[in-house]
Amino acid sequence: MTASSLHQHSFVFDAHCDTLGAALPGPGQRDLRHRGSKGHLDVPRLQAGGINCQIFAAFPGKARLQASPTAAVLERVHVLHDLIALAPEDICLIQTAADLAALRCDGPIGAILSLEGVEALVGRMSLLHIFHRLGVRNIGLTWNHRNAAADGVQVGSQAGLTAFGRELVATCNQIGIMLDLSHLNPAGVADVLALSHKPVIASHSNADALCPHPRNLTDDQLRGVAANGGVVGVTFVREFISPDPAAATLERMIDHIDHIVQVAGIDHVGIGSDFDGCNPIPELSNGEHYPRISEGLSRRGYTPAHIQQILGENFRRVFLQTLPTT
Ligand SMILES: [Zn+2]
Repeated sequence: MTASSLHQHSFVFDAHCDTLGAALPGPGQRDLRHRGSKGHLDVPRLQAGGINCQIFAAFPGKARLQASPTAAVLERVHVLHDLIALAPEDICLIQTAADLAALRCDGPIGAILSLEGVEALVGRMSLLHIFHRLGVRNIGLTWNHRNAAADGVQVGSQAGLTAFGRELVATCNQIGIMLDLSHLNPAGVADVLALSHKPVIASHSNADALCPHPRNLTDDQLRGVAANGGVVGVTFVREFISPDPAAATLERMIDHIDHIVQVAGIDHVGIGSDFDGCNPIPELSNGEHYPRISEGLSRRGYTPAHIQQILGENFRRVFLQTLPTT
């Protein structure tokens, strides 16, 4: 079987994109039902890339600094609900393990709704339950800054989770929301790994050993995620692939996959593009190019079974363990 045919017959899971922000009303708004000439992802490009399940982050952006980050995030949640209502044959919301288990390679794309930072909760657990009812099933505790739960990597503090952050971990475990370590500071990562009874993910982070960057994970952190049963999504962000972003290529990205396989094991690596939230590497400049990952892994000698784990089976496993059963 060729690599591209293997790709088309595999379950492909992308653990992070910022595409919802591009579809907000206003100048430059993209209709995600149609192939755009700008940006990286929409339904046709997800289909062309063979992506079967996509996590869509509701990232408040600069609105996190404004009066209502909650409104900014709700607007992004609405973008996804609206898209699903308009194109139910093409895309569906994944809220339970049963929904995920039912996804087929030739059926609609599964969408998992995510919060990137918990600014929208304004420190209130009641809002977590409301977002859960709206379908949120993955939560990155922070973006790069401090919020009510924890400190992001840019704060530069040694502080771990706040009391609210610890309660958030327990509640997410209980109600079936995946916890996401990307952007969280090292003390926060250690706290989540110690507290969570469920597997956790780092949706879009690479290996610090190959590219030292606060957004990447050290070998100890990679081993911690493996011990927790979780998965790290290798990302296409040039700055997280190579200290010289101009030298970031598909081959250098696959070096990160190799490294995480060696340090954490084949069960603990996946893909998290950060499409529409970054300047990706040239070979992966939009979702249509996704099969190039399978070609690259195949050239390096990965077996079809291992390629399928990296493409999506590892993320499928941890979400099946974490999502509510029904
Ligand atoms: Zn991010």
